[in-house]
Amino acid sequence: MNNKLEKIIKERNKLLNQLPDFDNILRGTAFERFLKCGNKNCHCSTGKGHQAFYVGVTHAKAKTEQITLPESLFIEAKKQIASYDLSIRILNEISNLNRQILRIKRDEIKQSKRDDNAKRN
Ligand SMILES: [Zn+2]
Repeated sequence: MNNKLEKIIKERNKLLNQLPDFDNILRGTAFERFLKCGNKNCHCSTGKGHQAFYVGVTHAKAKTEQITLPESLFIEAKKQIASYDLSIRILNEISNLNRQILRIKRDEIKQSKRDDNAKRN
């Protein structure tokens, strides 16, 4: 096999092994806000608000969806988002490698056609 092709396939296998489990991925962003509850006697009326945790995601046509979470699930969601982002990065890299593979294979086909023509002439 073509040396360059072999190297790319090795690299692709390495990336495949780095893919996280897809059962734990989440697309979106995690963020925190500090909210005032409205009670004038509450500490939040003068100081920092109550901490609230959210996960937001943007759908098609710029529609966004937000959910509020308790801190324990927020931590879980942040890990899932990190796995999703990592998956996307890896898939993009694999896609780039596959494009390189297509180029190499295309050039091999071109070359073998050229060789065939040279033999006939
Ligand atoms: Zn309050």
